[in-house]
Amino acid sequence: AALDAAAAVKAEVGRATWTLLHTLAAQFPDRPTRQQQRDARTLVDCLTRIYPCGDCARHFAELVRRNPPVVSSGPAFRRWLCQTHNRVNARLGKALFNCDLVESRWAPLGCSAAEAVAGEEVEGE
Ligand code: FAD
Repeated sequence: AALDAAAAVKAEVGRATWTLLHTLAAQFPDRPTRQQQRDARTLVDCLTRIYPCGDCARHFAELVRRNPPVVSSGPAFRRWLCQTHNRVNARLGKALFNCDLVESRWAPLGCSAAEAVAGEEVEGE
């Protein structure tokens, strides 16, 4: 029973993390600033180290090493994320997701993304 509970939490944390990542990607700008590109890369990079399932983090690190995040535009980041999620799906024996449908599955929130923090303006972008 304890193992079942742990597996349920692991799956829930996975769904929550993918929800955050895909929702964030849905709002990633067509023309991201350098800071936004850095932030997306850093977020993925942190997950390869501190994702709260050590095995998952290690496998994800290997995936990301082979296929580094593409953060040059919203569409590019969404495509990369969908393909990366599919690589995890494949490893877990799950069905692959049709990446043409990603923009209808994951919509931006009604509220706008955080924007224009100081760093961006300093860079003059
Ligand atoms: P999830 O895979 O959580 O997906 C949630 C929803 O996203 C799906 O219902 C579907 O609507 C949509 N979706 C599915 N695929 C895609 C896609 N390619 N693009 C866009 N949307 C999609 N679990 C393990 O047991 N072992 C691991 O090594 C492991 N590594 C992980 C690494 C990371 C970085 C993350 C975030 C999670 C990892 N997980 C791992 C958890 C695992 O990926 C799932 O989240 C969990 O098993 C629950 O799966 P699910 O079937 O509910 O759907």
